Amino acid sequence: MKYSQLFAKTTKQDPRDEVSINAKLLIRAGFIRKEVAGVYNFLPLGLRVLNKISQIVREEMNAAGGQEVLLSALQNSQSWQKTGRWKSFDVLFKVKSQYKMEYALGPTHEEVLVPMAVEFISSYRDLPLYLYQIQVKFRDEPRAKSGLLRGREFLMKDLYSFHTDEAAMFAFYEKMKKVYKKTFERMGLKTIETKAAGGTFSAFSHEYQVICESGEDEIIYCPSFAKATDGKPSGCHFAENTEIASRRANEECPVCKSKLRQVKTIEVGNIFPLRDKYSKAFGLTYKDQRGKDQVVTMGCYGIGISRAMGAIVEVYHDDRGIIWPRSVAPYQAHLITIDNSQLTIDSSKEVYQKLQKAGVEILWDDQEEVSAGEKFADCDLIGIPVRLVVSKKVGKGKVEWKERGKEKTSVIDLDEVLRRFKD
Ligand code: ATP
Ligand code: MG
Repeated sequence: MKYSQLFAKTTKQDPRDEVSINAKLLIRAGFIRKEVAGVYNFLPLGLRVLNKISQIVREEMNAAGGQEVLLSALQNSQSWQKTGRWKSFDVLFKVKSQYKMEYALGPTHEEVLVPMAVEFISSYRDLPLYLYQIQVKFRDEPRAKSGLLRGREFLMKDLYSFHTDEAAMFAFYEKMKKVYKKTFERMGLKTIETKAAGGTFSAFSHEYQVICESGEDEIIYCPSFAKATDGKPSGCHFAENTEIASRRANEECPVCKSKLRQVKTIEVGNIFPLRDKYSKAFGLTYKDQRGKDQVVTMGCYGIGISRAMGAIVEVYHDDRGIIWPRSVAPYQAHLITIDNSQLTIDSSKEVYQKLQKAGVEILWDDQEEVSAGEKFADCDLIGIPVRLVVSKKVGKGKVEWKERGKEKTSVIDLDEVLRRFKD
């Protein structure tokens, strides 16, 4: 992609109406634009990141046996009446139609999927079943000041599991705990699996929390548990959301006696054992091997895709801009042409074409009227993992290589650049 043709460019000024780091950086760097509070438009760079995160999640859900669907955002209000959540779901948007209809604007999809599952699940042979979607959700949040961390409209992956009994559901629930850890690790996020309340969904749940000073959640956790999440085995697994926590900071961990810590966090995922709550409400049953009717047992599993994007920016940035982990970066290489000499322009074209041919996603700052200083500043702000510079000084057939977040630069041959990307 040539930067001169990119739809959105960077801006120098912080947006006046944003307080969060993720919104400020993503707006300045040209990834998103605010529509109204809590609602953002994704521009070409932003959509590339969102799609990369979605694709990681999609791959992991498919590997876990999930089948992808796309469910409606406008939902039948009668289904919401049936579960009692028309009244009890405090952030539900209700939409009045001019034709005397009223809809729920989907904040979650039990009320859509479970009545539909009644049509297709009839026997134990139809179970287990795992359905998921990646879709826009709507919630009438009271405070939407944290950029992508708290939207009134946001992208979520939600998976729903259907089982013959609780033992089967909990076996899958345990499997999903591992899948979640891996999914977040792939996008660069270290998460702490945290016990929490289940809200209108279930009696308890497990949240995936990222330690971050700007987070809206707070957890009490055992530091040796955090080590275990780094891949080091440990017998200790204590982490609870402070909204329900059975322990306080500085008390002893009930498992290993270490001192418990309290930290601010961002909830990027949440899994719930729904049990029979929604299957009962909609009469979702199956015939067991003896031909007897049994109620289906369910679980649900959410990941905030757009919130994860915001969380990544909150965790990975410096005073110059964003530092994208490679797996979610909009492009892998940011090529900068410093001067307008024929040698530099020819050399830039060659680098651009060869890298593209090799399958490296590359953004080329080919603007002619912009100073080197401005190009470097834009490059740091946008946060693509590798900066490549071509200039008279660097020389013919050579490229200066620098990784975002590191200071070291090295001048190498184009072949070496290609080899590094291959690795
Ligand atoms: P919170 O406690 O932050 O309001 P929640 O617990 O109500 O979120 P869930 O119903 O668990 O949210 O939704 C599943 C996931 O969707 C969350 O773990 C989070 O990552 C994401 N999510 C929920 N609400 C929002 C929102 N308003 N904006 C962006 N992402 C959200
Ligand atoms: Mg939650």
